[in-house]
Amino acid sequence: MILDRKHELERKLFRQFAEMEFTKELQDRLDETGEFDWDMHRKMARYGFMGVRIPREFGGAGGDYLSYALMIEEFARMDAALSIYANTSNSLGGGPLMMAGTQEQKEKYLPPIASGEKIMVFALTEPGAGSDAGGTTTTAVEDGDGFVLNGRKTFVSGAPMADWCLVFAKTDPTARGSRGISMFVVDLHLPGVSLGASEKKMGINGYPTCDVVMEDVRVPKDCLVGPLHKGFSIAMKTLDGGRLGMAAQAVGIAQSCLDESVAYAKERKQFGQPIGNFQGISFMIAEMATEIEAARQLVYHAAELKDAGKDATMACSMAKFYAAEAANRCAYKAVQIHGGYGYSRDYKVERLYRDARITSIYEGTSQIQEVVIAGQLLKKTGGR
Ligand SMILES: Cc1cc2nc3c(=O)[nH]c(=O)nc-3n(C[C@H](O)[C@H](O)[C@H](O)COP(=O)(O)OP(=O)(O)OC[C@H]3O[C@@H](n4cnc5c(N)ncnc54)[C@H](O)[C@@H]3O)c2cc1C
Repeated sequence: MILDRKHELERKLFRQFAEMEFTKELQDRLDETGEFDWDMHRKMARYGFMGVRIPREFGGAGGDYLSYALMIEEFARMDAALSIYANTSNSLGGGPLMMAGTQEQKEKYLPPIASGEKIMVFALTEPGAGSDAGGTTTTAVEDGDGFVLNGRKTFVSGAPMADWCLVFAKTDPTARGSRGISMFVVDLHLPGVSLGASEKKMGINGYPTCDVVMEDVRVPKDCLVGPLHKGFSIAMKTLDGGRLGMAAQAVGIAQSCLDESVAYAKERKQFGQPIGNFQGISFMIAEMATEIEAARQLVYHAAELKDAGKDATMACSMAKFYAAEAANRCAYKAVQIHGGYGYSRDYKVERLYRDARITSIYEGTSQIQEVVIAGQLLKKTGGR
């Protein structure tokens, strides 16, 4: 796909912002401490990045999925953790409300998340229900004018900083599997809500993740988002867009691996010449560049399908599956090209190697993307 002028300009803006603001000092500090940087969050919010995909009437920029993918790609090219700062509000946090919220819910929740004043996160995973998210055991029981929630959600990205959390809970205990699950906005400051300790992660440090525990948490009825018992299908539709964003993140990480490798291959000399002169190195670079371009085109195509309102489930899964695996292969090669220095924290590829790893795990592992892709193909009758 050749980007039109609008998207080219947007890409330039995102790239300039990331190159100017995501300084090496900031990247190193986030990786070292794992702490969230509120100043950067506020700065991104002032630029309007939290609301790129949120409609203008609710305080966002009203952009499309392609703009969103370009932003995540360009931000991740500089720093994968910082790309998530502007992701959640446009994706798993804001997405379900844009898709299934009432006018009142949109007016209440979207403007403050678009402005960065509040953070909304997404809690589907449980200790016993990861890939099999339909195995949710958190419950929400109707009680008078509200619901009472009990359960534990795990790996909730952004929960330590968040104000609100979208929680998926079983509302019909008689329904089997993923049926009978509903979605609620839970105020994380309510009595009965507690947070676990932040996970000590391998990568994407600087965007903390923790458990959310609910013990007899009472929420009013208007916290139910979408139809009762139908929350799981909203979660799955939201994940299409989320997977697109994480595929774009993988492309950004992979591109950074290539940028670092090309520079190093020209500069590092062995046997009296730059290592890039050796076919063993130059072929790795050619392989990386080709895979990145293929991944990028899958991402842009999936974004285009979503923007056209077409069914993009398989395209989003293909983009995420391919881009995540490609990012991992590129990170491996980038470290290899750097030799011993690639194993040292003094070089960016060491962090890229760790950051790339998450892309094939969250928002559905690579195996789950394959399950989705195969499922779509096998349920179809006939050929293309
Ligand atoms: C840093 C981080 C941030 C996260 N953020 C969030 C968040 O904000 N919100 C949220 O809800 N969740 C979040 N998650 C959870 C994430 O989505 C899950 O970890 C992921 O879906 C996998 O679930 P699991 O870890 O329980 O692995 P499991 O489901 O136990 O999988 C273990 C292995 O089995 C494989 N497997 C499982 N089922 C199948 C199958 N049917 N066929 C083939 N292979 C299979 C998997 O691919 C994997 O290799 C986050 C996770 C991490 C690590």
